[in-house]
Amino acid sequence: MPKYRVIVNRETCIGCGAAPVTCPDVFELGSDNGKNKVVDKYSVHLDEKLSIGEIPGELYECAKAGADVCPVGAIRIEEIKE
Ligand code: SF4
Repeated sequence: MPKYRVIVNRETCIGCGAAPVTCPDVFELGSDNGKNKVVDKYSVHLDEKLSIGEIPGELYECAKAGADVCPVGAIRIEEIKE
């Protein structure tokens, strides 16, 4: 099963909380600025503007659901090509 890269544009994110509520296994609001981020377990990069994570295939549908509910399109998911 492929892995996926999850990219959260924290500058676009308005901190509405919908993504973390929809998929808490992947997303949470950061204690730094209240914007969405990939949870530490899967995080590979985090700053105030960008959060990048790599998730296993089993969590794709969950992460996708979180991306789909985002009102500002701040979450992008792409397959990691081995
Ligand atoms: S749904 Fe979008 S705007 Fe809301 S917290 Fe998640 S990334 Fe931010």
